[in-house]
Order: sequence, then structure tokens, then C-alpha cells
Amino acid sequence: MSKPKIKLQKIFFIGAGPGDSELITVKGKRLLEEADVVVYAGSLVNEKVLQYVQKDAAVYNSASMTLDEIMKIVVEAARQGKKVVRLHTGDPTLYSALGEQADILEREGIPYAVVPGVSSAFASAAALKDELTMPEITQTVIFTRLEGKTSVPEKERLAGLARHSATMCIFLSVGMIKNVVEELKQGYAEETPVAVVYRATWEDEKIVRATLKDIVVKVKKAKIARQAMIIVGRTIGVRSKWQEARTKSKLYDRNFEHGYRKKKKG
Ligand code: SAH
Repeated sequence: MSKPKIKLQKIFFIGAGPGDSELITVKGKRLLEEADVVVYAGSLVNEKVLQYVQKDAAVYNSASMTLDEIMKIVVEAARQGKKVVRLHTGDPTLYSALGEQADILEREGIPYAVVPGVSSAFASAAALKDELTMPEITQTVIFTRLEGKTSVPEKERLAGLARHSATMCIFLSVGMIKNVVEELKQGYAEETPVAVVYRATWEDEKIVRATLKDIVVKVKKAKIARQAMIIVGRTIGVRSKWQEARTKSKLYDRNFEHGYRKKKKG
């Protein structure tokens, strides 16, 4: 008698969000509740998110594992018809090594899907209560990082990107804040506002606000050397300092008409 064929389950790469366990999506939470196997990126995923995992599920912290070790667990579980979740911090499409895991699944013929999460870039902007885009100031946001062990293409050097005067969210670089600022100053004016958000949405969240002139000293003083987002640009801290520079958006302007609203008379 032939064995019944096991139905392969799709593997889900899920964004856990920036820390606060309520900032996972409803879909992400539901898939965690249904999972038989969860492999989470323990260096940054808040373990409180694991409260949604059922008691008898197997849970692995990938922080100390190699890619091969992670994928062995994931692939074997999938082959046994188990529901597998690979949990990444923030959004899985940013600095999460999603591609190299997905390549292996494609090679092995295992279906997978990606569920977005709240990136720490957005959680940090929310902590600052600042907009990343503002009319007349900038309509562009750049997600980037300084070169570390991972190289960054020459055309994407911070100094070059800074010349756009757009808002920049700089990941994985606070430990090299001095170098970051040196590069940024080649494009932005020294008085450009910059904020560093340490562990946005965690209980020990810290915010440091400054300009490019004094951010290095302030970050060192606050002893922030990792797990922080650097956000630089002229929309940062506008409410307090640059109020006069603000131009209201057309979206809610009474003289502006769009698909959902006619121009108001008078
Ligand atoms: N995929 C993640 C980023 C992973 S790279 C995301 O979308 O957020 C790790 C880097 O993200 C850290 O070095 C830091 O720059 C940033 N980061 C992650 N969590 C953070 C948090 N809660 N607050 C501030 N920055 C955070």
C-alpha cells in the first residue's frame, strides 16, 4: 500500500514589527497561532510576539544558527506537512536576508509567501511624531545603511545620497554615527535636523534629537551604539523648529478638488 501523500504547506515569512507585540499584522498573528514550527530572528524580534504561538509548537531562535541550519529545520518541517513561520523583525523585505532563504525554498520546490510588517523606519517616525514627507520640503524617502561587513554599491554612498536633500532612514549604522555624519555633511547643511530612535516601541525606547552639528556627541552621551534608526532630513522636528517652513498639503486644502471631494465654496 502506498503512503498517503503529505500536503505541502506554504511557508510564511512574516514581519513581526518593530517590537511592540501589538504591531504585528492581524494576518501575521493568525498565522503564528496556526504554526507548528516557528523560527524567529531572536536578535531583534521581541519574544512577547511569541505569546501568539500555540504551546506545543516547536520554536527556534535563529540568532545563533547558520543559513543551512535554519533552512534544514524549515524544509524538513514543510516536507512533513507542518505549518512553518519564519519570523523576521520589522518588515521582512528590508535587511532580513529573505532572498537567500527564498532561493533555497524555490530550489527545493517548497511554496512560500511573505507577510509584510511594520518596519522600524515607520515605528521610529511614529515615535518622533514626525512626517517623512512634507509638501515643499521633500517628497522622497531613502532607506539605506552605511557600509559595514556588508558592502554598499559605490553609487549609494551616503555622501552621494545626501545631495538629494530627501529624508533618509539609515539602518544598521548607529555604531558608526561619526562616519555617518561625516558623509551626510557632504550633502546636507550642518543645521539639518536628525533624530536617533533607539529600540522604537520597546519599553526602553530612547529618542535623541539634534542637528548634524551635534548629533554625534548626543548619541555617545546617550550610550546608543546599536538597535537604533537614524532619520535625517528637513521634515524632522518641523513642528517645533521650522514651523514657518511648513506648507499645508493639498490633500485637505479647501481649495483643492480630488476624486473623493469637491472644492469647498467661499
Ligand atoms: N527588517 C527590519 C530591519 C532589520 S536590520 C525592519 O524593517 O525594521 C536591523 C536594523 O533595523 C537595526 O540595526 C536598526 O537600525 C533597525 N531597527 C530594528 N528594530 C528597531 C527598533 N525597534 N528601533 C529602531 N531601530 C530598529
